Amino acid sequence: MPILGLTDRGAAFPRIATLRKGGPKVSDRQPGQDLKDHFRLDTQDAEVAQAFQRAYGDTPNDIRVMLPYATAAENFDCWQEEWSAGALRHRCDSRTCVRYLHEDGTYHDDPRPCPGGCKPAGRLVIWIPELQRAGVIVVPTTSIWDIIELQSNLDAAQAMRGDLRGIPFILRRAPRKISTPGGQDGKRRRLEKWLLSIEPAPDWVRLQLAATARAALPGDHLLLSAPMVDEDTGELIEEDDEVCVGERELLKQLRDELRTIGGTPHPLTRAQVLAMSCEQIRAEIDETGARLDAMRAQDAAEGPVNDVSEDLL
Ligand SMILES: [Zn+2]
Repeated sequence: MPILGLTDRGAAFPRIATLRKGGPKVSDRQPGQDLKDHFRLDTQDAEVAQAFQRAYGDTPNDIRVMLPYATAAENFDCWQEEWSAGALRHRCDSRTCVRYLHEDGTYHDDPRPCPGGCKPAGRLVIWIPELQRAGVIVVPTTSIWDIIELQSNLDAAQAMRGDLRGIPFILRRAPRKISTPGGQDGKRRRLEKWLLSIEPAPDWVRLQLAATARAALPGDHLLLSAPMVDEDTGELIEEDDEVCVGERELLKQLRDELRTIGGTPHPLTRAQVLAMSCEQIRAEIDETGARLDAMRAQDAAEGPVNDVSEDLL
């Protein structure tokens, strides 16, 4: 049996560091300055600090991370919180408290209405593979913009894969223009903020899309998997699968035949043929066929006669 609030909290990895958006605190009342284009790893563990420095240098951004839990909700914890003098006063969902500090200094978690005075607080838990530790790193933010962005990024990844574990992500700070109240004459003003985002690594997304496309093909897809390359430019050709395949094949045969008997077909690259409409291909077939017929007629009039006479000699 679990002890309530002690052993019923589920599996949690030890926290080895906090990845912050600001510099060190100036004082208890004054937080450090926003570092804007980079993060700061805050840790007591010298080995962790060194490994992070080796991997990301002095202005770390675009951090390669993995998520330790399956769902967005488990990896990204979001509440409204009220803090004072370093202590949590209450935590709520903006309507109902899930935890609050009683007058006797103990925490209670029976539901009660939010007393107000709280602000958004999001905590993302990540792994950084380069640190080679099973411990998690917490990325805190109190920005509502960060919270909205991270939540939608994680929801999208979860919708795509179902389970967020094992996906390589990039955690990034990037500038974005946001619109806030507080401009002159009651107008909104546009500010640049460095916001957090987390997205699956592009290499992984490419592989994932290719695998999805292959899985969706019917039958023996290996025959189709070799891409066509334009012999002249080296470019990959995206083939319009079903359209006038027979016509293209016939044109190819006729052009080959024409070459075999010493004729010269119109100069056409494979890409040009693929770019032609079915009607244009049919016109080209007629044209090539006519030249072929003409050359055969000429051969019939001259060639075979000579051959026969040579045989007779
Ligand atoms: Zn509240």
